[in-house]
Amino acid sequence: MEEIMKNQDWIEKDAQCMMQTYGRFPIAIDHGQGALLYDVEGREYVDFTSGIGVNSLGYGNWQWASAVGAQALRLAHVSNLFYSQPYIDLAAELCSRSGMSAAFFANGGGEANEGMIKLARKYSFDKYGHGRSTIITLNNSFHGRTVTTLAATGQAVFHQYFFPFTEGFRYADANDIDSVSEAAGDDVCAVMLELVQGEGGVYPMEQEFVHQLAVLCAERDWLLLVDEVQTGVGRTGTLFAYQQYGVLPDVVSFAKGIGGGLPLGGILSNEKCRGVLGPGMHATTFGGNPVSCAGGLSVLHQLNDAVLEEVKIKGELIRDFIQGLHSPYVASVRGLGLMIGIQIRGADHKALARQMIDGGLLVLTAGQDTIRLLPPLTITKDEIMRGLAIMQNVLCP
Ligand SMILES: *Cc1c(COP(=O)(O)O)cnc(C)c1O
Repeated sequence: MEEIMKNQDWIEKDAQCMMQTYGRFPIAIDHGQGALLYDVEGREYVDFTSGIGVNSLGYGNWQWASAVGAQALRLAHVSNLFYSQPYIDLAAELCSRSGMSAAFFANGGGEANEGMIKLARKYSFDKYGHGRSTIITLNNSFHGRTVTTLAATGQAVFHQYFFPFTEGFRYADANDIDSVSEAAGDDVCAVMLELVQGEGGVYPMEQEFVHQLAVLCAERDWLLLVDEVQTGVGRTGTLFAYQQYGVLPDVVSFAKGIGGGLPLGGILSNEKCRGVLGPGMHATTFGGNPVSCAGGLSVLHQLNDAVLEEVKIKGELIRDFIQGLHSPYVASVRGLGLMIGIQIRGADHKALARQMIDGGLLVLTAGQDTIRLLPPLTITKDEIMRGLAIMQNVLCP
C-alpha cells in the first residue's frame, strides 16, 4: 500500500536533503485549479500570490498547458547556435506590444538585470570609453540575488556576507529628483528603477518623478533602465507598467509572469540600444528555450486588452474592499493593478499574513510592514471575494 504523505512528512524530508535557505510556511502544495491551491492533505487555499507573481494565468490553464506540452514533444531545447520558431514568435509579439525594438532572453529576473547592466555599461564604453560605468539605483529597490544585482539593490541588508560586491552603483531616494541629481557625476552611465518597488514594500513611483528622470537621462545621455521583473507582463493592468507612465525606457527587463510558471526572463531594448551587444558578448545556454517561450507566447495571447482592463478593475475592487474595512491594522493600501500592498500598523505584518494563510488565504509580505498581494491575473471575482472574506476575518477581529 502506498504511504500517504502529510505536510509534516515533507517538512522532515526537506530538512534532511535541502540547504535551509528559505523560511517556508508548513504547507506542501500538491496541485491547483484557477486561483485555488490544494496541499497534500487536500486542504484548499485561495491564492493571492501566484508563486511570487509568476503564475499569471493561475493553475491548470488548459491552453497554456497544451501549448507547453505540444512544444515539449516537438522540440524541448535547441542551442542558440540555431534558429527556432518559439523564441522568434515571442520576441516579435513582445516588441509589437511594448513599442520596443529587440529582445534578449534569459532565465529569470536577476539574470535579465545582469544583461541590462552589461548593455548599459557597453553602450557607455563604446561612446565614452573607460570610467563611465556607474548606475544610479533607488533606495529600497530590489534587483536580484547575483553578486552584481545585490549591489544594485538599494537596501543595506542585502550588502552583507558576500564581499566584495560589484562596484559601480550609487543610490538615490525614490520620488526625489534632487536626490538623483546629487548622485550624478561624470562616471554615471544609467539609472535603473522599478516603477512599483515590489520586494521593498509595494511603493509606486510618482508620474512626475519618472518624467523628470526621463528628462535627466536624455540630457546626460544616461540610459533609462526599467526593472519590470515584477511589474511587467500585465501585472499592473498594462503589458508593462511604463506604458502607464508615458515614458519609453532604453532597456526594460521582465521575468516573473512571462512564462506562466516556467523559468523565463529577458530584456527588451529600444531602437537606439538594440545593437549594443553583438555576437559573443552576451549569451546563456537556456535562453529562449522553446518550451518556456511557447508558454510565454500563450501567456501573451491570453493577456489581451480586455483581460488587462479587468486586471485594473479587479485591483480597484480589492483595494476598495480593504480600504472600506476600516480595520485597526490597515495604515494604507498602495499599488497598481493586481500588485497591491497593505501597510500594517499596530500588529506584526508577518503574524497577520500567517493568520491569513492558516485561514486558507495565501498572501506575501514585503518591506518592513506590508502584506503584498499578487493574485493570478485571471483570478475570478468569486475567488477574489472568497479570499477577501478570509482577509476580513483577520484584519477586523
Ligand atoms: C524578483 C525580482 C528580481 C529577481 O528575479 P529572479 O527571477 O528571482 O532572479 C529582480 N527584480 C525585481 C523587481 C524582482 O521583483
